[in-house]
Amino acid sequence: MIFGVELHTATDGVAPAIRTILIEVLYIDVPTDGDGGGTLTPFDEGAIERPHFNVSRPTPSLFQVRNQILRQVPDGDRDVLLAEADHVRLPAGDLIARPGDPISSAYFLDTGVVSQVTEMTTGHQVAVAAIGVEGLVGLEPLFGVSQFAHRIVVLVDSSGYRIPADRFRRVFQQSEVFRRVTLMHIGRRMSELVIAAACNRAHSHRQRLARWLLVTTDKAGQRSLRVTHDTLAQMVGGPRHAVTVALNELRVKGAITHLRGRIDILKRSVLVGQACECYDVLANLVRRS
Ligand SMILES: [Zn+2]
Repeated sequence: MIFGVELHTATDGVAPAIRTILIEVLYIDVPTDGDGGGTLTPFDEGAIERPHFNVSRPTPSLFQVRNQILRQVPDGDRDVLLAEADHVRLPAGDLIARPGDPISSAYFLDTGVVSQVTEMTTGHQVAVAAIGVEGLVGLEPLFGVSQFAHRIVVLVDSSGYRIPADRFRRVFQQSEVFRRVTLMHIGRRMSELVIAAACNRAHSHRQRLARWLLVTTDKAGQRSLRVTHDTLAQMVGGPRHAVTVALNELRVKGAITHLRGRIDILKRSVLVGQACECYDVLANLVRRS
């Protein structure tokens, strides 16, 4: 998969600049053979249901807030953001949104990881981004976009603050600090998308699987994941059989164990050695956040 990206300097305000950047991420080439690509595996629809959120109305202090964007916002702005927020629990496998769904809320994760998944006309699906406590879901209303273009799937048991989109947009306009922190996050997301696109083209399934396991467990703050082969194929962007081979290679090298849908990282240093260079680049992006 190749992304072409051109960055433009905006002279007429922040939102148009971001809109320009997103619009310019246009040309995509999905490879059809070789280790750098291949047939993508359809998402396991049976594993997904509409979420039945476990909801509570939060009254958090800074000590309770783990989302890294919210933690960087002044207390007063955070209070305004969270005044109408719900704290929601998002079990792994739940679906937050489908393409075409209205974006009525932004989600600021406190725990866990969700994945942004794009669907081809063939029905095949591939993950394009993972979002954890460093970020948020539902940025698009800042650019005048009112509907989701991707599926948003909960990858690891998660929780977070669900903030009405109009309040999110209003605080973004009013708070200089919140705007700056959110724009920095958008910049990092753009970099992650570009790296992922190049990685899917240039590196092997084993390297990409190792990179994905490291990034996801880093974001989730845990060393174990429950994930099916079909979901792994979608996350890595390759056929199911190639993911099975890559899993076995990592197991033989002593990096992981894999049993009944659960992957445990045994030796992280070995896994880092099996990952492509993209992991270091992505980890540095997170460290700078
Ligand atoms: Zn890579």
